[in-house]
Amino acid sequence: MFGPPGAGKGTYASRLHEKLGIETIATGDIFRELIKKDTELGRKVKAYMEKGLLVPDEIVTEVLKERLSQIPKGKGFILDGYPRTFEQAKALEAVTKIDVILMLDVPDWIIIERLSSRRICRNCGTVFNTRFLKPKIEAVCDKCDGPLYQRSDDNPEVIKKRLQVYKEQAKPLLEYFEKKKVPFVISKTTNLDQPPEPVVDNMIEELKKRKFV
Ligand code: ADP
Repeated sequence: MFGPPGAGKGTYASRLHEKLGIETIATGDIFRELIKKDTELGRKVKAYMEKGLLVPDEIVTEVLKERLSQIPKGKGFILDGYPRTFEQAKALEAVTKIDVILMLDVPDWIIIERLSSRRICRNCGTVFNTRFLKPKIEAVCDKCDGPLYQRSDDNPEVIKKRLQVYKEQAKPLLEYFEKKKVPFVISKTTNLDQPPEPVVDNMIEELKKRKFV
């Protein structure tokens, strides 16, 4: 799953998981868990994340390989937030085949609006939005009643930096995958209040056409 921060990668991946049972590996989530543990590695990762910068490739790849080793052999998975650099793409190709890129195309203005009102369940990670994807009860998760929080990097200054980093890294990476003839399924968002369901249904249809599911 490829796209700018706030494009909906986590939201779509969790719905694909519900509908198709495919596991998701989200490097950002793994890092947030690491930070909670307050180890030396966690502190190192935090210093990058809070500035909106990429965590160094050696750390990311190590963490990803560890997580990939937990996926049963022959089972598929969705990657959310990986690869973000050439080195990461190479490391990934060395251990697995990339079947398809689910590409999310979302303009900056929508991203900025969405991220500044995004809320996440502290318990189960479900994503809400105080304006467009409201929980039934304010600040409470619909699914597990857990408390909702705002990510510390979802503030205007860090959002701008994350977008800039994405733009610098994404273009050469996408060109690389195009050259390698990895198929793309592109989902374009043009409305701020675009509900996730039709986007997910379209992704499933496209995946079925290509016999991935
Ligand atoms: P977003 O895509 O909205 O920025 P993520 O949760 O995917 O959110 O990532 C949050 C932060 O975690 C990034 O800004 C970066 O610091 C770090 N991170 C996540 N994945 C990677 C990766 N593959 N390579 C380097 N840094 C990463």
